Amino acid sequence: MMTNLLEVQQIEVVYDQAILAVRDISINVTEGSIVALLGANGAGKSTTLKTISRLVQSERGSLTRGQIRYQNQDITNTDAATLVKRGLVQVLEGRRCFPHLTVEENLRSGTFVNNPSRSDIREGIEKIYQYFPRLKERRDTQAGYTSGGEQQMIAIGRALMTKPELILLDEPSMGLAPKIVEEIFAIVHTLNQQQGISFLIAEQNARLVLQYADFAYLVENGEVRHSGQAATLNQQDHLQAAYLGGS
Ligand code: ATP
Repeated sequence: MMTNLLEVQQIEVVYDQAILAVRDISINVTEGSIVALLGANGAGKSTTLKTISRLVQSERGSLTRGQIRYQNQDITNTDAATLVKRGLVQVLEGRRCFPHLTVEENLRSGTFVNNPSRSDIREGIEKIYQYFPRLKERRDTQAGYTSGGEQQMIAIGRALMTKPELILLDEPSMGLAPKIVEEIFAIVHTLNQQQGISFLIAEQNARLVLQYADFAYLVENGEVRHSGQAATLNQQDHLQAAYLGGS
């Protein structure tokens, strides 16, 4: 039996009490899976992720309908820091690093909510360096001087410092060369396989993410239009043409 880790039930999200960004979205993420949220620019993918992590509040967005459950508990009104402590963390779009801090200081900054011991922090960082050897090479470089791909790695690494069970990853491929994107998805795959971390990934690059995802939802205009096993969706010609950028 597959257990649901995250259940998003019929959410509606409004910005500034007027802009309807999400009309009706329901999503399940089963334990240990990679789920993709696909759709064009402005479809409502980022808003959905930020609503789950509750970061949407800092952009004056509010959930006006629906419920969100995580590990079988209602988290609709749980604040972002508490969610991080419970293993639910978001990597924001645009891989926001602290440009003046070194790579390693950026990774350390991921621990501030959980406040672990020094030895736990050291251990966490070493583990991240195993997955991202490039970050080890650049540990003392200011993040602002690293490449886009390295910054995405830092952003994921920082999330890993919270010892997550579920990572919400927003548009990891944005602005990166295909080779780097492949590298990042390969690491996501390894983290999923080796550590059992689940992922909910918002992506415009459907073809790519469907290679790694187990299940996918296609979002249009704030609503889920289609959903299914990633392998099946990838083969449906009419979906290919409409949502996945042709053949
Ligand atoms: P993208 O890939 O560009 O992030 P998306 O599918 O993630 O697209 P959202 O960013 O969730 O889509 O946007 C959904 C709708 O909400 C759009 O109409 C957008 O203009 C609007 N929107 C997004 N963020 C805000 C905000 N902070 N304030 C007001 N409106 C917003």
